[in-house]
Formats: sequence, structure tokens, C-alpha cells
Amino acid sequence: MRVLEKKRSVYNANISKKKTCQFCDKKNMAEQICTSLTSHHWFVIASKYPYMDGNLIIISKRHVEDIDTLSSEERKEWFEILECTKQRLGKVFSTTSFNISINIGEYSARSIAHLHWQIIPRDRISNQNALNIFQDIHVISLDHKDVVRLIDERNVQVHEHN
Ligand SMILES: [Zn+2]
Repeated sequence: MRVLEKKRSVYNANISKKKTCQFCDKKNMAEQICTSLTSHHWFVIASKYPYMDGNLIIISKRHVEDIDTLSSEERKEWFEILECTKQRLGKVFSTTSFNISINIGEYSARSIAHLHWQIIPRDRISNQNALNIFQDIHVISLDHKDVVRLIDERNVQVHEHN
């Protein structure tokens, strides 16, 4: 178990120095991709810098920065990928509660301009006292590689139903 704040602070300090888009960088993306959820137009990855355990990110394969520029095919597939991702996270983390968020635009506090949605499972067992999911201090017990394994392998659950 580790506290996220330090790692995320380092991430925030370093991300602004990157000249290339981190979501267009295939090397960066490789170890985070959940292949069982990724579709024709969308990647699903396990965040290297999660807000909470199970933090996945849905990312357009094409570099776009606003929903206005999505094609009709990308829009149609978006709801399918969101539903599949939510169902899979719900099964793995035994919950029907989620936070789903997007930051669009220069002043939105986004760290990466490339269009992406955070999706985070919430349950009664862990993080029950968190008032705001997008603040920086939460206890993280799963590495992004653990989450990729959990998502891509069938019949694996993190928590038992209570
Ligand atoms: Zn990009």
C-alpha cells in the first residue's frame, strides 16, 4: 500500500516538460493498455498515476482535444466502450458506483490535452470517506500493471461482496 500524493506530485511536475503527447506515445501506452476493452476508435488504459484503485482512462485513438471533433463512428463507439468499461470495472471491484470525468480546454486543469475520460470505481469498502475523487491524497494499493491484469483476466474480483 502506498500514498499517492508524492508520485502524483512528481507526475504533475514532469508532465509539463513533455513535448510529445503521452497518449500518442506508443511506448508510454504499451504497458497500460487493457486489450480486452480497447476497441477500434478507443483505448482503455489503467492509469499509471491513479486517483484511486481501479482508475481506468478511456482515450480516443486519434489525437483530438475536444468532443466537438469526434466523428459519428467515434461517438457511437464511445457509449459502447463506456458501458463495457463500467461493467468490467463493476465486476472486478464489486460495485455499481463510479466517477466519470473529463477536462476539456486550457483552463480545465487537464494535464494532457488529448481527449480522455477518467473512470473510477467507487465502493463502500475502500475510499468511503473520500469527498472529492479528484483531490490528490488517496490510498492506492494497486499498480497500473495489477489493474491491467485484473481487467483483462476474467473472473477476478478485488473485493468480496458485502
Ligand atoms: Zn495525443
